[in-house]
Amino acid sequence: MRRVLTATMVAMLTGTIGLRGDDTAARWWSHVEALANDGMEGRNTGSPAHKRAAEYVAAQFKKSGLEPAGVGGYLQPITFKTRRIVEATSSLALVKNGKAEPLTLGTDANISVRVDPAPAVEAPLAFVGYGLHIPERNIDDFAGVTLKGAIVVYISSTPKSLPGPLQAHFGSAAERWKMYKAAGAIGTVSIANPKSMDIPWSRSTLARLQPAMSLADATLDDAPGQQLSITMNPAYADKLFAGSGHTFAELLALVDADKPVPSFALPARLKATAAVERSEVESQNVAGILRGSDPKRRDEFVVVSAHLDHLGIGGAVNGDTIYNGAMDNASGIAAILEVAASLHESNAKPARSILFVAVTGEEKGELGSRYFAAHPTVPRASIVANLNTDMFLPLFPLKMLMVLGLDESDLGTDVRATAKAVGVTVQADPEPQRNRFVRSDQYSFVKVGVPALAMKVGYEVNTPEAAMAAKWTAERYHAPSDDLNQPIDRSAAGKYVEVVRDLAVRIANRMDRPKWNDSSFFKRFANGATH
Ligand SMILES: [Zn+2]
Repeated sequence: MRRVLTATMVAMLTGTIGLRGDDTAARWWSHVEALANDGMEGRNTGSPAHKRAAEYVAAQFKKSGLEPAGVGGYLQPITFKTRRIVEATSSLALVKNGKAEPLTLGTDANISVRVDPAPAVEAPLAFVGYGLHIPERNIDDFAGVTLKGAIVVYISSTPKSLPGPLQAHFGSAAERWKMYKAAGAIGTVSIANPKSMDIPWSRSTLARLQPAMSLADATLDDAPGQQLSITMNPAYADKLFAGSGHTFAELLALVDADKPVPSFALPARLKATAAVERSEVESQNVAGILRGSDPKRRDEFVVVSAHLDHLGIGGAVNGDTIYNGAMDNASGIAAILEVAASLHESNAKPARSILFVAVTGEEKGELGSRYFAAHPTVPRASIVANLNTDMFLPLFPLKMLMVLGLDESDLGTDVRATAKAVGVTVQADPEPQRNRFVRSDQYSFVKVGVPALAMKVGYEVNTPEAAMAAKWTAERYHAPSDDLNQPIDRSAAGKYVEVVRDLAVRIANRMDRPKWNDSSFFKRFANGATH
């Protein structure tokens, strides 16, 4: 911290202050351009373009004096299984009284290949409302229905009675599957709540023909025993409820009013045949270390991470097929590259080491970070904290920092102090229903017990800034238009880099290791719990 301030003072003396923030912002943007231009083809996990992007990151790490911390260099190779649905020979149908009503793939529903589907499944359907069974919170949506051998149908929402991070945790596909498997279910049908869909069905369905991935390491399989995973278009969800005495609109109204939702068996059975092309690819995490200066603490690590991958080339939107991922998440990689560069230039020597990690496979389900957390390139017990940046959205000036995980660990104190020093306020996630805390790579670290934070440019609800963020999400999130031709507030990015840098240094200089708050649900993972 002190060295960083000294460099700032030097800059003041040499008359370059004022330019410095602009320099950071300009260099940040140059990294975004390098990673999100059309030649990078959207950096899909396992693609040659992603490999080129990983090599760019490795070269920048080297330039910033980081020690290689991959396997025999900066890169950490990971093997992924890939699956692609062959729709022409796949099918879905609702079977009632011996009569099959086909569902149109792509329109009514999709067979997700994030899990490896069985070739043929036919099973009864059981609707279970929010689909949650959490005895410690007295939530039991499974009461009164038989899930053994059934396919669970749920509305992908969580009751507001749960604190935000728990909504995020229990609402995740992996946690849900643990509950359904324990109850004997064999598959899932998830119906999105139209009010909390980040992107409309018409756009999300374009991605259904893309390969999905899982880690080849079988011990890291999130969906053991799951034979089928269906995503239902909410616009056609009533096909499931026909004859049940309920309508989707009525059930959704209960969810939106945060009222109890009934659970009941559905009259139809679901019949699925899934044809899948399977393969394997390799993709890489990139890791480098700024070595700490304290004789003891230098063997402990603050991990500063961001994901490098995006969606690659996919379905055309307005004639564009390249999903550049400029904000998601070239922007985050550019930020950590600038944090490393800035620490190098100021010759910062924090007490602990700072481990920079660019992870792959985030868009496939946070897979690269999951692999890193399970197979870290430094001793696992030596990782004291994780700071993650994913799509921090510098669309307007950084006056407020949105911090995911703010109230979970004493890193909250560090981020509050760091932000305050640069005149920025902090806020917890203003929209916990969007599950942001578990929707990026910090969560892979949380699940192995490491206190973590993720940050974005914040905003209050019902403000012009909130409207800008919402408009961005509706129009550009996971669309080809998340490219280099969009209005960005570069000064917000420069300031964000400054906050992450100062926060990483502050944590690296703490005398004690960061700790989970006693009240935190996630503390259990530090004590070895697995769910
Ligand atoms: Zn994304």
